[in-house]
Amino acid sequence: METAIYPMPAARGGGGGFLRIFLYLLITVFALILATLVHPRTHDGFIRQLGRNCGLVGLTLLALQVVLAARFKWIERPFGLDMILQFHKVAGVIALCLVLLHVVLVSWGSAHWYLLTSIDVRWEVWLGRLALLALLTTVATSLLRRKLNIGFETWRSWHNILAVGILSFAFVHSISIGGDLTAPAMQIYWAAGLVGAGTIYLLHRIGRPARLKRNPYTVTSVRQEAPRIWTIHLEPSAGQSVYPYAPGQFHYITFRRGRGLPVEEHVWTISSTPTRHGIASTIKELGDFTATIGQTQVGDRADIDGPYGRCSYVFYPEEDELVFICGGIGVTPFLAMLRHMHDTGSRKKVLLLWGNRTEQELVARQELDQIAKSGRPQLKVVLFLTKPGPDWQGEQGRIGKEAIAKCLGPQAGALRGAYVCCPPPMSMVIIGALHDLGVPGDRIHYEGFSL
Ligand SMILES: Cc1cc2nc3c(=O)[nH]c(=O)nc-3n(C[C@H](O)[C@H](O)[C@H](O)COP(=O)(O)OP(=O)(O)OC[C@H]3O[C@@H](n4cnc5c(N)ncnc54)[C@H](O)[C@@H]3O)c2cc1C
Repeated sequence: METAIYPMPAARGGGGGFLRIFLYLLITVFALILATLVHPRTHDGFIRQLGRNCGLVGLTLLALQVVLAARFKWIERPFGLDMILQFHKVAGVIALCLVLLHVVLVSWGSAHWYLLTSIDVRWEVWLGRLALLALLTTVATSLLRRKLNIGFETWRSWHNILAVGILSFAFVHSISIGGDLTAPAMQIYWAAGLVGAGTIYLLHRIGRPARLKRNPYTVTSVRQEAPRIWTIHLEPSAGQSVYPYAPGQFHYITFRRGRGLPVEEHVWTISSTPTRHGIASTIKELGDFTATIGQTQVGDRADIDGPYGRCSYVFYPEEDELVFICGGIGVTPFLAMLRHMHDTGSRKKVLLLWGNRTEQELVARQELDQIAKSGRPQLKVVLFLTKPGPDWQGEQGRIGKEAIAKCLGPQAGALRGAYVCCPPPMSMVIIGALHDLGVPGDRIHYEGFSL
């Protein structure tokens, strides 16, 4: 039985989540509280004041968007970065609604409709309009990126540029004509907020990449697992250690391979386990960048930022009977967890339901068989294929409610933990099925392969 080579993050539960949510909400409304204390607003009409309040809260939410996107470990720990980034999307929509309300209510409350329609307005109003336009573009392209056929890298570059525009234009607009921002205390608070958001932005966009570049990893093996699926194994620089991670977590890798190959930061699950040397990801060719992954060579450099996410059984030690359900390359967090359970001699009971199209796409099949035979963990693997060959002996079709019910049997509700990692439409079906079978929501852990 092996013990871990690299330390793991403490197996903290979801504790502290409420504190973070409380702090987020407090900061969201703090400007309102401060404005009321330092600048009692008795002369404004209700509608105009409501409009101003929407502006204050809306702009605070926008500044907090920078914090949410900055991958702070302290913030993501109880929730997982994927959930934080989903919330970032929702908060962007809420901020946009508040800013739109701000525009309409302030114009209505002051009976100055020309603020919305006229060209002949003060430059500060124009700045506000530009900020709103940038915000509308940012939210629309974030929600409709795939439908608009915008590549992820193009979208991300514009997203970062527009974020700077939104915050700086909105800040100058608010500080120069915001009725609530005439009191020095409010101006100081507002400026501090902008400086804080700007600093976090620079640290995230420039400071972190520079720090990662100083401690690069080196590719030590490139192994083809199946057609279009590769495992890339990396080692840290001499004298450095792999960062503490739990099996099932994910990281961002920027490969610096030269030879004209693209340099982009992408996110992949860590398919290795901290019980073995180095760190690895198993990567499927799914688009422009990953189409080049097989051209990675031993000796290539890479910057790695991680770990993130909460899809790891070590965070939920009380769960001793588990089902893992995945589709295709979604098996990677489960490979990591099963390898870890095996190396640490775990006797947990695990049922792996794994859906693929063809038999050729099954990676690490022999290894899974060996783990199952060893009894550490007590693993049962059920494979599903949608395009089976004539000799296929396993299950056929997609993993749906009936298949899950059949595999879990009547005791499904007593299951201690269910982990799901599939493309979003399949995940919805599976999570719905688990709920219907009586698995409590807090026992279902989900990793989406899209942020
Ligand atoms: C938490 C998580 C874990 C993942 N684990 C694995 C894994 O173990 N193995 C694996 O093969 N794939 C994994 N993926 C998917 C992997 O990130 C994408 O397949 C890859 O980034 C596609 O890049 P591309 O340019 O080749 O394809 P594209 O066609 O450009 O992108 C396909 C989709 O991948 C996403 N994507 C693209 N670039 C990025 C990026 N830089 N950052 C974040 N998302 C991006 C976008 O949603 C995009 O629509 C994971 C994704 C997430 C979010």
